[in-house]
Amino acid sequence: MPKSFTSLLKQQALRLGFDACGVARAEALPVEAEHLQQWLDAGAQAEMGYMSRNIDKRTNPRLLLEGAKSVVMMIMSYKPQVLQPEQLPQVAYYAYGNDYHEIIKEKLQYLIAFIQQYYPAAVVRGFTDTAPLLEKAWAVRAGLGWIGKNNLLISPEFGSFTFLASLITDVELAYDAPFEGERCGACTNCLTACPTGALCRPHFLDARQCVSYQTIESKTPVEMDTYGYLFGCDRCQKACPWNSSAPAHTHDELNALPEILSYTADDWRRLDEPDFNRIFARSPLRRAGLARLKQIIVHGFNE
Ligand code: SF4
Ligand code: SF4
Repeated sequence: MPKSFTSLLKQQALRLGFDACGVARAEALPVEAEHLQQWLDAGAQAEMGYMSRNIDKRTNPRLLLEGAKSVVMMIMSYKPQVLQPEQLPQVAYYAYGNDYHEIIKEKLQYLIAFIQQYYPAAVVRGFTDTAPLLEKAWAVRAGLGWIGKNNLLISPEFGSFTFLASLITDVELAYDAPFEGERCGACTNCLTACPTGALCRPHFLDARQCVSYQTIESKTPVEMDTYGYLFGCDRCQKACPWNSSAPAHTHDELNALPEILSYTADDWRRLDEPDFNRIFARSPLRRAGLARLKQIIVHGFNE
C-alpha cells in the first residue's frame, strides 16, 4: 500500500498544479541544525528574530507533528512568461502575481483531504513558508534538487524560481532517494551577480546586506542602493544557468498583474491608498504597504 498510495498522491499533486513532488522519511536534521546555528551566530538573520526561535522544531518534523513519519515536498515554478521592461522599478518574479500562500494553501487542503480519504485517521499538516521547517533541506531529501551556492533549492528541471510546499503526516509512505551531489560545479555566477556582497560566500547569505530582505522584511527605511529593485531582488537567480534553461511556468493563477508589468516610477509616486488596496488586494506587495514602496521610490528612483 505505501508504494501504490505514494504514487497516487504524487499524481494528485501534479494534477493540482505542482510541478514536482517527492517524499522523505521524517527524521531530525542534525547537520542542517548545525549550519543554521552557525548562520544565526554570525547575526546574518538581521531582524528576522523568528529564525532563532524553535530551532529544535525547525530541524525535527517530529516535534512539529507528533508521530510524523513522512514529509511530502512539492515545488511549483513561478518563472514568469512575460517580464517587466528593464527600465521599470523591478519587482521580484515571485511577486508578479497574486500571493502564492493563498494559491498553495488551497492545493494543500485538497491533498490533505486526499490522504484522509485513504487513511481516515491520518494526521496531516500542510505548510508553505508558514512553519518552522527547513523546506529546502527537505526538498533535497525528497530528491527534488540540490541547494545551490545561491542558498536556494535548484531543481534540475525547473531551476530555483519555484515555490516550495510541504505536508507532514503520520502515514508511512514510500520514500525517494535524496538528491545526490551538487550541480553548480565551478560556476560562481550568483556570487558575482550579487551587487551588495550579501552572498558573500557559497551557501551563506547575509540578510543585512540583501536587497530582497531590506525591501521586503526589514521594518526600517531602506537606505541602501536597491539596484533598480522596488520589491525583492532576483539578481543572483537571474544569473544562474539552471534558471536560463528552465521553462516558464504554466500556471494561469500565477500570471502577472498588468500594473506590475507597466508601472513606471511616476505611476508608483502617483498611486493613492484606495487604488493600491484595490489593485494589489491579493498581491505580496501589500506586505510592504504603499508608504514603504513610495519611500523606496523616493530614495532610489530619480524623477
Ligand atoms: S537577492 Fe539580490 S542582494 Fe540578495 S543575495 Fe541575491 S543578488 Fe544579492
Ligand atoms: S549561479 Fe552557478 S553557482 Fe550559483 S546557484 Fe546557479 S549554478 Fe550554482
